[in-house]
Amino acid sequence: MRYALKVTIRSGGNRPVTILDAPGAGCATALFGLQNQELTAKLQGFSPAPYRVRQLESALYRQRIETLDSLTTWPKDLRQKVASAGFCVGLPRIVETFRSVDGTERYLIAGGDGQTVETVWMPEGDDSEDSDDAEQPAASDARPWSRATICVSSQIGCAVNCQFCLTAKLGIIRNLSPGEIAGQVATVLNRHGADPGTDRINLVFMGMGEPFLNYDSFMAAVRLLAGPMGIPESRMTVSTSGIVPGILRFAQEPVRPRLAISLNAPNDLVREAVMPITRKWSIADVLDAVRQVPLRPRERITFEYVLLGGVNDQLTHADEVVRLVRRANFPAKVNLIAWNPGPGVPFATPSESAVAAFQQRLRDSGIPTFIRRPRGRDIYAACGQLKKTGTGA
Ligand code: SAH
Ligand code: SF4
Repeated sequence: MRYALKVTIRSGGNRPVTILDAPGAGCATALFGLQNQELTAKLQGFSPAPYRVRQLESALYRQRIETLDSLTTWPKDLRQKVASAGFCVGLPRIVETFRSVDGTERYLIAGGDGQTVETVWMPEGDDSEDSDDAEQPAASDARPWSRATICVSSQIGCAVNCQFCLTAKLGIIRNLSPGEIAGQVATVLNRHGADPGTDRINLVFMGMGEPFLNYDSFMAAVRLLAGPMGIPESRMTVSTSGIVPGILRFAQEPVRPRLAISLNAPNDLVREAVMPITRKWSIADVLDAVRQVPLRPRERITFEYVLLGGVNDQLTHADEVVRLVRRANFPAKVNLIAWNPGPGVPFATPSESAVAAFQQRLRDSGIPTFIRRPRGRDIYAACGQLKKTGTGA
C-alpha cells in the first residue's frame, strides 16, 4: 500500500501530478521523510514519549539507519511493535550505478512505484563551488575525495520544456515526496560513508525537474536536510528556470538554499526560443522576483548560462548579458556551462575558445564568471543529460 496524497500543482497549464508519500518499496508507511510532528502523529497509536520521537528522528536523519532494527536507542519490543504495524525506515535504494572516468557516479534510485529517480555524486565538488570555497580539506588515501557535491532531483521528468535539455523530453512524470528528495542524499551519503558533520558536502538541486514546481515537497526536504540531517543551508543551491510564484515564496523562507537562475539567454527573444517558459515570465519578471529575496552577508545570486553554439554564445550576447546583470542590480555571479549534448537534441557545443572568450568578456566588465566543467559526461550525468538512460543513448 502506498499513501497517495493528491496535490494539484499548476505548472504552466500542465496536468496535476500526484505526490507519493512513501519512498520505500514494500513498506506500508515509510518514516524517512517525516518531520518530528508528523512522526508523532503517525506513531500516536504507540503513545511514544517525546524523547522517543526525538531518538527516532536522530536515528533516521543523523545516523541514517536503514532498518528499524538499527534503532538501538529504542527497546526491542517497541521497535518490533512499530515494525509489525507496517512502519519501516523506507530509505530509497540504489538500483543502478554508472561510474564515470572522472569519479562521478550517477545512480538510479528506486521510487515507491517502480519509477527511478536520478542522483549524481561528484567527488571534489564542481568548479562553480570551488570559486566560493577558500578552505579545502585534504583527501586521504582511505577516501579519494575531500569533499563532494550531490546533485539532487526534485521531480521525475520536467514540465518546463527547455529545448536544449534532455530531461524535458520525458515531460513531467511525477513529483517526488520530501522523503524521496532528502532520501537521495541520505542513500548517497551512506554509500560513501560520508558525514555532513565532518565532510564538506554540497547539495545542488539541479537534477531532474523544476524544484519550484514541486515547491512544498522541495522545501520540506530542505528543512529535513538543513535541520536533523545537519547540512548547512549555505552549502545548498537550488536552480530554477524562473518560476516567479516559487521565487516569491522562496523569498519569505527563513531557511533556504542559495538561489541560481537558469538565464541561458541574453534577452527575451532568444530565451523564448530556447526556454518557452519565458512567454509566461519574462527575464524582467524573474529579476523583479529575485530582488525580493533578502540576501545573507556576502551571498550572491548565480546566473546559470548554458552556451549553445551559434545561438547565445557570441560576444555581442556577452555584452548584452553584462548589461542585464548590471540592470539586475543585486550581487550576482555567472556560471557558464558549455551545452552537454543529448540524443535527439538539436544544438551544438561551442568550442573551448568560444567559452573562454565569453567568460573573458564578462570578467573584463567586472562580473565574477566561472566555467562549470562538465562532470560525468560519458555516463550522461552532466546537467541536462538526466533521462533514465543507460551509459549510451
Ligand atoms: N530545472 C532547474 C534545475 C535543473 S536543470 C533549472 O532549469 O534551473 C539544471 C541546470 O542544467 C540548468 O541551469 C539548466 O539550464 C542546465 N542544463 C539543462 N540542459 C543542459 C544541457 N544539455 N547542457 C548543459 N546544461 C544544461
Ligand atoms: Fe526542466 Fe531545468 Fe531541464 Fe528546463 S533545464 S526542462 S526547467 S530540468
